[in-house]
Amino acid sequence: VERALERARRMESVGRLSGTLAHDFKNMLTVIIGNLELLERRIPPGAENELIQDALDAAQTGVDLTDSLMGFSRHRNLAPRRLDINAIVERGSALMRRSLGPDIDVTLQLAGELWPVKADASQLRSALINLVLNAQEAMPEGGRLMIRTENTEIDDAFLAQELDIQPGSYVRISVCDTGIGMDEETQLRAFEPLFTTKQKTGGMGLGLASVYGFALHSGGHATIYSEPGVGTTVSLYLPADEAAEQNRIAPQPAAGMGAG
Ligand code: ADP
Ligand code: MG
Repeated sequence: VERALERARRMESVGRLSGTLAHDFKNMLTVIIGNLELLERRIPPGAENELIQDALDAAQTGVDLTDSLMGFSRHRNLAPRRLDINAIVERGSALMRRSLGPDIDVTLQLAGELWPVKADASQLRSALINLVLNAQEAMPEGGRLMIRTENTEIDDAFLAQELDIQPGSYVRISVCDTGIGMDEETQLRAFEPLFTTKQKTGGMGLGLASVYGFALHSGGHATIYSEPGVGTTVSLYLPADEAAEQNRIAPQPAAGMGAG
């Protein structure tokens, strides 16, 4: 009971803290984005314009992140849409490679014919950013980062119970690194809000908590597999969009549906 109370207290203070901070940040980012958009329109297409677009992408990512913090604090309703996860990962990978630098080797292992997922796009992007940032921070000397997507049928009742999800079709998105890994206690507590081992570098301990919250709210789950000195894999299980999946198996005849 004490632990549950302590957790509830923490959640509440996280809520207040992240709510006001996120709000302030978002206001500043809005100014930055507005000015960059003005510049972007004035500067002709080319290398310089691309620099501005990169800055815009990064600022937009910041907005997504603050949105997710505010969502986390207010338990804001998600706006789930049918998402092509592979496309989102691929689109983010160029910016990711640039910001991670040459010492981190980024590979994508994307499943062909990945099932669409029903989730909130900006929260998914924030979750991936959080995971990639953690991976980077776990590899100060560089290393390898891999993002993998897979279709996963959870039909085994035991596994479903183990993962704490309903049996069904899921898309698993894993972010793997070859970093420092986690000891047992860290692994057990990593999803807790405000749990951080990065006090010295100003870690807030909110990244994995919001990733976890996002996964649960989307009807899925998140897991950690980690070995000290070897690396870490954080996986998100997100429910596949049933309707879309049925379409895939038995495509609807196009006749009579109207074109376009
Ligand atoms: P923060 O990054 O601000 O510390 P997070 O919620 O993102 O907060 O992570 C919580 C803790 O989990 C981190 O402080 C770190 O100890 C551990 N952790 C998270 N991701 C990784 C990773 N990829 N490798 C090693 N440890 C990790
Ligand atoms: Mg983090």
